[in-house]
Amino acid sequence: MGGQPLYLAPRLGPRLRSLLDTPELLHTLTDALGSPLNVILPDQLADNLRQFRAVYDTHHLSGQVFLAHKANRSSALLRRLAATDAGVDVASLGELQHALGAGLTPDRITATGPKNPEFLWLAARTSVTVSLDTRGELEQLATLVRGHALPRARVLLRLSGFETSGVRVLTRRSRFGTPVAESAALLDAVERHADVLDLVGVAYHLDTTSLAEKAVALEGCLRVLEECRSRGLRPRAVDIGGGFGVNYLADGGQWERYTTALTEAVLGIRPPLTHGGHGYGLRNESGTLRGTLGLYPAHRPIAGARYLDELLSHPAASLGGRPLAALLLEHLYDLHIEPGRALLDQCGLTLTRVLEVRDQEADGPLAVRLAAKADDVALEDHGVLMDPVLVPEGSPGPPVPVHLFGNLCLESDLITRRTVFLPRRPAPGDLLAFANTAGYCMDFHATRAQHQPAAPKAAAWQEGGRWRWCLDDQYWPTTPVGGAQ
Ligand SMILES: *Cc1c(COP(=O)(O)O)cnc(C)c1O
Repeated sequence: MGGQPLYLAPRLGPRLRSLLDTPELLHTLTDALGSPLNVILPDQLADNLRQFRAVYDTHHLSGQVFLAHKANRSSALLRRLAATDAGVDVASLGELQHALGAGLTPDRITATGPKNPEFLWLAARTSVTVSLDTRGELEQLATLVRGHALPRARVLLRLSGFETSGVRVLTRRSRFGTPVAESAALLDAVERHADVLDLVGVAYHLDTTSLAEKAVALEGCLRVLEECRSRGLRPRAVDIGGGFGVNYLADGGQWERYTTALTEAVLGIRPPLTHGGHGYGLRNESGTLRGTLGLYPAHRPIAGARYLDELLSHPAASLGGRPLAALLLEHLYDLHIEPGRALLDQCGLTLTRVLEVRDQEADGPLAVRLAAKADDVALEDHGVLMDPVLVPEGSPGPPVPVHLFGNLCLESDLITRRTVFLPRRPAPGDLLAFANTAGYCMDFHATRAQHQPAAPKAAAWQEGGRWRWCLDDQYWPTTPVGGAQ
């Protein structure tokens, strides 16, 4: 295999590191519960929440942090969340029922996303705040509240299609939300239905890493809030959605080297770095690099709470250039956020057992088959390239290039398309731990294809210097002795 090994080592916080340092426990868990197995660390969620709260404190802002439920189906995470002061953002009837059942009271729940009548009814019945996508949904909710004599519904208006006149920053198009250019008609409808709808504020969620785009959207929201006030409405909050991101990799240098080498491999300057020469969106057209790299920026030093801090410090170009936080504070608006991935940073890992190790062509990568399918470890599906950790680590020898295959009878069932370097030759029975999978990479795509099991979940926590665990569904904040704080 030509060239130096290219590593993409995962960033491991103290809790994940400590769990990975207990190979006997991880083997006992997979012996008992099977492979793949997801392990959830609920206490990490509370730590991540504190980091977001610290940013609110720095900027003297009030408002709520809502976990975007869709990122993970775990009950342990929701129940641990219920033991904090945070809220949850639900996007289906099932998620709403789950949140209510975990102990989150309606004042701590926001309902977003596409909604069916049942979801809308239960949200209105329980007085959950509803983030309205369209005029049509607003009318539908108003009719529902009147028809069923429900309490006046608390609503946010989700907006999209923001733009600035001066700076040429356009926010990307979204399938969700009402274009800001149509907000006047939306506000007319709010006024018309004032007897059944209580306007809490406006909202956006943009699936982008761009701070500039998000700043434009937040400025746009502030302008619409002003318009509301000039109409005599009394909005009090702006919900800026999620998308604060996660820094997955320990070493920015490794990321730089990998992406540079990938470009060279696609151009044929060096041997392929992937199964079948896959280019992650890049391609070689007669010696010219084309396409765009379809990967998550896995090394992202400014992610999570730090990203929020940067956004709040960002000058509002169209509103006098003062920081966005200062404008929020001046109007005493609550700032609501809905992080999914970022709140679940370091909150879990996925364990997979090695079933088979096969030599391929001389010096080529080994074919390693895992007791898991690609959908159980959806890192690559989300464009996240990150090395698994071999458990036990063993004594390091020369690095061993491998291709990681899943257990489906399907050519495309690759856990990674990338050639991964392991610190020693793996053997059947070893575990490969994929770190930091709690956000979207555990159960979002998991299926029971071919009657293969979907991964069960265990919740684990530290108590008196040692690890304890239970099945995810058995976890309640009373489970750890002394209760969760
Ligand atoms: C998915 C989603 C989020 C969470 O996004 P992350 O990128 O995981 O932070 C928040 N709000 C809404 C409306 C969403 O659809």
